[in-house]
Amino acid sequence: MPSYTFRCQQDCADFVAQHPIAAPPETAVCPECGDSARRMIGKPALGVGRTSAMRLQDATRASADSPDVVTNLPAGSRRATPMSTNPLHRKLPRP
Ligand SMILES: [Zn+2]
Repeated sequence: MPSYTFRCQQDCADFVAQHPIAAPPETAVCPECGDSARRMIGKPALGVGRTSAMRLQDATRASADSPDVVTNLPAGSRRATPMSTNPLHRKLPRP
């Protein structure tokens, strides 16, 4: 359930309450004075919760815009076409 911030009509401190996202109430009862408190429009919680899935998505988006530049082949990399070690193959015509 998302958290909503409410501000009392009196000079009480703002308070946070959780309500279902399908039906967030416009008003709530102030826990300090019992008066009506209106729901405030809050900022979205973007970037909160740095999970490994979020890091993977960020890295994937970054690689689409600015991919890493490779200057050397990775160590131990194999050739694209395997070279034969049979000496008879050297006598074959080349394209
Ligand atoms: Zn109040």
